[in-house]
Amino acid sequence: MPATAQDALALYRRRRAFSTTSEPEGSIHPEPSDGDPVFVVQIHDARSMHFDFRLEADGVLKSWAVPRGPSGNPHDKRLASPTEDHPLEYRTFEGVIPEGEYGAGTVIVWDEGTYLNLTTGRDGQEIPLTQALEQGHASFRLNGRKLRGGYALTRIRESGGSDREAWLLVKHADRRASERGAPDPWRARSARTGHTLHQVAAEAAAR
Ligand code: MN
Repeated sequence: MPATAQDALALYRRRRAFSTTSEPEGSIHPEPSDGDPVFVVQIHDARSMHFDFRLEADGVLKSWAVPRGPSGNPHDKRLASPTEDHPLEYRTFEGVIPEGEYGAGTVIVWDEGTYLNLTTGRDGQEIPLTQALEQGHASFRLNGRKLRGGYALTRIRESGGSDREAWLLVKHADRRASERGAPDPWRARSARTGHTLHQVAAEAAAR
């Protein structure tokens, strides 16, 4: 198994008490899942509302917090702040992370699907996604229930000193481009259950 996956999940696990949170502890997936790699976009009503954008690579979900959410408009440059790698099992997680836990608040799966890596080098050869991310630019086509078409993630700032690493998530100007920005998180519905953040929170409170 890639040592990177092991290390990455160590940070994910260190931040969480699995006796308290219903988030998955997850396992290492040394082999890629069958078929195309997966992506998920969760809406997370944490201290500040954001979308979590996650792409499968190297047996984990590479993750970014996108405050304004992915836009279908190629003119929108959406700030994406890297967060720790999450286990693949996280792609189905919906529920309420309890008060006092890391990321406390309600989570819904807003979109899910597969993606195709489109990143190529100057020679036209495909660059594996992990390597593309290390180099600071990845291009991919999403095949989700809501998000479709090409997107790019580009690192615009390295971490160092008081600077946190920063990326931009931008829609390709392809035939899937639209004027549509991200949805209102409070009105958005889960791709899995059709439920809103409010409904998921109410269901958790009733249990
Ligand atoms: Mn989050």
